[in-house]
Amino acid sequence: MSVIRKSNKLINVCYDIRGPVLQEAKRLEEEGHRILKLNIGNPAPWGFEAPEEIVQDVILNLPASQGYCDSKGLFSARKAVMQECQRKNIPNVGIEDIYIGNGVSELIVMAMQGLLNDNDEMLIPAPDYPLWTAAVSLAGGNPVHYVCDEQQDWFPDIDDIRSKITPKTRGIVVINPNNPTGALYPESLLEEILELAREHKLIVFADEIYDKILYDGAEHTSMAALADDVLCITFNGLSKTYRAAGFRSGWMIISGPKHKARDLIEGFEMLSSMRLCANVPSQHAIQTALGGYQSINELIVPGGRLYEQRTLAWEMLNDIPGVSCVKPKGAMYLFPKLDPARYPIRNDEKFALDLLQQQKVLVVQGSGFNYPDTQHFRLVFLPSKELLSDAVERIANFLRTYEQ
Ligand code: PLP
Repeated sequence: MSVIRKSNKLINVCYDIRGPVLQEAKRLEEEGHRILKLNIGNPAPWGFEAPEEIVQDVILNLPASQGYCDSKGLFSARKAVMQECQRKNIPNVGIEDIYIGNGVSELIVMAMQGLLNDNDEMLIPAPDYPLWTAAVSLAGGNPVHYVCDEQQDWFPDIDDIRSKITPKTRGIVVINPNNPTGALYPESLLEEILELAREHKLIVFADEIYDKILYDGAEHTSMAALADDVLCITFNGLSKTYRAAGFRSGWMIISGPKHKARDLIEGFEMLSSMRLCANVPSQHAIQTALGGYQSINELIVPGGRLYEQRTLAWEMLNDIPGVSCVKPKGAMYLFPKLDPARYPIRNDEKFALDLLQQQKVLVVQGSGFNYPDTQHFRLVFLPSKELLSDAVERIANFLRTYEQ
């Protein structure tokens, strides 16, 4: 029988977070091994459950959620997002500028499909949340990675961004707070990126899904709040702050000079009607999530679980000889570096596989985030302090004798 092949469209698409290392973890689990999974930012299974109030709203509204809704989303949900824009000082956002999707993921793919022609370029951070790179490739575009500088708290390198802008560049993706580095960008840096966007007529894609998961009293500014003359598309959702990743609910907000983007907006409207609408029951959670008490605030202050787990894992990692890690200011990840003089890693997927097989700890290799060197890996600090210290001790034991 002839081989049945996948579409050519997928040839350049890569999404390693759920790649071969995860397959091996599944195989080991089937063999009966217990794996410490530090690979995915999925809060609920680690005891970070969604607020009861939003769960109850979904249950209560389930009978009324049987039909399709407006393809852009329920009015009440979009109204709540609109009010959130007012709180975040994002100007001139009306109900029609908001699209609800099955998670931010669906909207990222939709936005790239709606914008890019073959070989159009999109500036994406390195390291990135790899869905951005995959979605650009799937849409026929070319992801062009700009460097975030580990020596400068993982901030984007403005000169590098500038040097990579070409006549084909359509937009720039800014993930703030960042996955995987945990960086939070100051307003002055956001202004500099906006200035480049202004100069070169780029659309800003602001992925702000971690905007309320901030440590040490940090505050978040939406990029869209800093410029009403740059087209900004802002992404956020229920998966992280509200710990309801399984509800698959996110939103996309268009702001700035929308009159110049009528054709693109028509494209987005067509794509959102083609999938009829997003999952309706979970849209009932959005109003309460955004409008109600923000329970995430209890978790990110001293004494709160996320805060304490971040501190413990960060300190323990930095105590391992030859390992260094920038302290995250936001989100739920650590992206440590292995000193190449001490641990020269040629293949970081092999590193993650060896760690998994020898110590039963699952992390994601840095190259999975389109980072150009092989000296990094990402771990999530969602597990309890006990599990995290067990995991980091195992990593330390593994490194003691590791050679590649
Ligand atoms: N953007 C970033 C930066 C993320 O880290 C994630 C999930 O990890 C997503 C988007 C996808 O979120 P959703 O669950 O809303 O699809």
